[in-house]
Amino acid sequence: MRSVHRVSICPLMTLLFALAYAAQVPDLKLDDWQPRSQMVGEQTVILKPKFPVIDIHNHLGDLDKTKHYLAEMDKAGVWKCVSLDGKSAGDFYKEHLRVSHAVSKDRFLIFFRPDFSRIDEPNFGETEARRLEEAVHLGVRGLKIAKSLGLTIHDKSGQVVPVDDPRIDPIWAKCGDLGISVMIHVSDPKAFFTPNDRFNERIDALGLQPNWSFYGDRFPAKEEILEQRNRVIARHPETTFIGTHFGNLPEELDQVANWLDVYPNFYIDIDARMGELGRQPYTTRKFMIKYQDRILFGTDTPPSADSYRVYYRFLETDDEYFDPNPAHPYQGRWMVYGLFLPDQVLEKIYNKNALKILGTFKGNN
Ligand SMILES: [Zn+2]
Repeated sequence: MRSVHRVSICPLMTLLFALAYAAQVPDLKLDDWQPRSQMVGEQTVILKPKFPVIDIHNHLGDLDKTKHYLAEMDKAGVWKCVSLDGKSAGDFYKEHLRVSHAVSKDRFLIFFRPDFSRIDEPNFGETEARRLEEAVHLGVRGLKIAKSLGLTIHDKSGQVVPVDDPRIDPIWAKCGDLGISVMIHVSDPKAFFTPNDRFNERIDALGLQPNWSFYGDRFPAKEEILEQRNRVIARHPETTFIGTHFGNLPEELDQVANWLDVYPNFYIDIDARMGELGRQPYTTRKFMIKYQDRILFGTDTPPSADSYRVYYRFLETDDEYFDPNPAHPYQGRWMVYGLFLPDQVLEKIYNKNALKILGTFKGNN
């Protein structure tokens, strides 16, 4: 009989070796340590994916680069790309729609970002929902929530605005009415909510981006933010929610599985979390096969053929111990292992699930 417990995997041996090595090379800083693997193994190059890709999570707000983005998508076999940069503030989304759709209406989709700087205005939710409806009439196809909600946005009372603040309800409801989905990014990696000390697994990233640390009394706890999000998902069963970054808890796939079981209107995307998913390839593979109808492909990296190809290698091959960082920087020093997903699962993640979600749009333009 085997007994199995879910516990944190502590890389104690790695740490001991590192300390022993540092003792021999006392001047070497952690930052400067760039070990090169001597492993010789399979290196599969996949220029184009097995099935056309819909990248549901990207940022194309640098409008001068729109043609360049399309060229990279063509190189990498990307059919459609969703930009989450359609800001309501200053009506930026209109300019985004104009420029991106002039290049290709079929290949670029724009999601709308509410303007939470207006949260204290009377009828904020109703007004912003009306603006969303107008934006959808003009061509927008979804809503994006950035991680500042529930974390750093304050109202005039000085309190952080929670994700499940009732003032926002009209916006969630409007998405259900219009048949568009909500790409919701709340909270961040677990390590960003723990002390930035020698035990922090993302100390490289936090060293370069100290403002990514949300540890301390000034910020709500990560669990609390995710609970707020889940209450919104439960309260709006007619609205489809896509949890960015694998539901923003790729470190605990059991928990993400629970959410998918409990909330039929909840989906997740894989963007920028190869570092977590690829460190637990057996669990991730089983998870992706089991929840193959609920997972979407996204990258969070402005279109680049090289970046896409790391994702294809991860999803399609059984290559071992390779660096995911070229796909998305600042992700720690972890190597990942390919998932060699079955074709049926790949096709759903690459495009079928996204087509299903985008196909629920109730408008006619
Ligand atoms: Zn993003």
